[in-house]
Amino acid sequence: MYFVDTIVALATPLGRSGIGVIRLSGDDPLNIVRSIVNDKEFTPVPRQAVLQQLYTTDGSAVIDRALVTYFRTPHSFTGEDVVEISCHGSPVLLRLVIDECLSLGARMAEPGEFSLRALAHGRMDLTEAEAIRDLIDAQTIAAARQAVRQMSGEFSHQLQPIKDELLDVIVFLESALEFVEDDLPEFQTESLGLRLRAVADSVAAMAATYRAGHLVREGIRVAIVGRPNVGKSSLFNALVGDDRAIVTEIPGTTRDQIRERFIVENIPVSLVDTAGLRETADTVEKIGVERARRTMIDADLVMAVVDVTDEDIEDDLEILESVAAMRHVIVLNKIDKADAKSVEAFRNRLFENMSSDQLQHVAISAKSGSGLDSLKSALIKPFSPSDMNLDGFLVSDARHYDLLRRAHDEVITSADLLRSGTSEEIVLVGLHNGLRFLGEITGETTTEDMLTRIFSTFCIGK
Ligand code: GDP
Repeated sequence: MYFVDTIVALATPLGRSGIGVIRLSGDDPLNIVRSIVNDKEFTPVPRQAVLQQLYTTDGSAVIDRALVTYFRTPHSFTGEDVVEISCHGSPVLLRLVIDECLSLGARMAEPGEFSLRALAHGRMDLTEAEAIRDLIDAQTIAAARQAVRQMSGEFSHQLQPIKDELLDVIVFLESALEFVEDDLPEFQTESLGLRLRAVADSVAAMAATYRAGHLVREGIRVAIVGRPNVGKSSLFNALVGDDRAIVTEIPGTTRDQIRERFIVENIPVSLVDTAGLRETADTVEKIGVERARRTMIDADLVMAVVDVTDEDIEDDLEILESVAAMRHVIVLNKIDKADAKSVEAFRNRLFENMSSDQLQHVAISAKSGSGLDSLKSALIKPFSPSDMNLDGFLVSDARHYDLLRRAHDEVITSADLLRSGTSEEIVLVGLHNGLRFLGEITGETTTEDMLTRIFSTFCIGK
């Protein structure tokens, strides 16, 4: 990959702010900046911010006073010449400066293009670039910590000895193929088989952390269902309340479904309040109910809310039946309105026809907040068993997990073929595939197409 042009983008979010940083990277960003600061000799000391007036290209009007920092190749984020201009954070002003850069020959950066260039110039490997994206997107401190570990190359460090060992076996088999006339003696195929199994085990151990990694990064989706007036919205607000996550805008919010995120023990929980679940003749509401059912199916866990002061529980029973087959927690709400004895009587009435494994329930009051902590723990318990380690290094990206699994399968199959006396040539095909899959994780053997696809998930200016 070779880049000749200079790219430009806003590196800070678009919107009014104290400062807004515009970043340029490429062959000669300094030349563009010289025109903007109206000084043909402008050659700042690398890595030292200097205060400069910015002008329109004809030099007539001052646009802003800004701090300009030059990073000389290769000591920059991208490995190319980079200039960062820290302007005042006015959207119109930033747009104007970017337009000036474009008119002077820069090109608008594609999403993730700065990181892509950093990768191409060997400033970081693919997992490190992805970690920066994950850090920016992190919803919890735990997810941010994981991203920082990966950003400092921990994934690659763990993978390297595994790749080295696999390559060693490959080289041995290649040379045997070339120089040894007869088949390999049994003791040798035996020992190579053991080495391959050890490689596969190490890969499998990394892949096994994905469950926890995925949980920390993506969290769980919980749907609230129940008849109208049982207190779903109240519970929704009580849960989301203080623990509201930073990221709250989720695309796809519909008029009858509200989504919010909150955090329980470092795990992001995405909560969906659905339209009241009941049969209805009203067409609009019918659509809402249909969506509620679909949301239930998509959710990792369903919270079915019932009102302990309700006399008529026919409809509740129907709802409980429909969630019984899913992962669920039954929430007995409004316990502040009933004494312990009536809550107990309600519980017995509700569960009298259900088997004991259908009794996952928590009694709460959405109004007073009592029982909410137990409910939160109950929500994450099925996904985060007490023996799950969320602190060590975790594989959290589906792409990495998939490649680890594929590499594992190739190596295991090759080990079996070797043991069954299959020719080295065939064994080697699988081993090369395995090595390639591992290389794709760090970007060594990733095709340009795939890189483009991966970097398109980055934000612009990164
Ligand atoms: P939804 O239709 O299921 O979303 O129910 P709402 O959250 O709108 O609640 C219906 C009514 O029940 C409202 O008047 C709430 O104030 C009340 N409510 C909800 N939860 C509780 C609770 O825990 N205790 C008491 N006493 N009232 C509650």
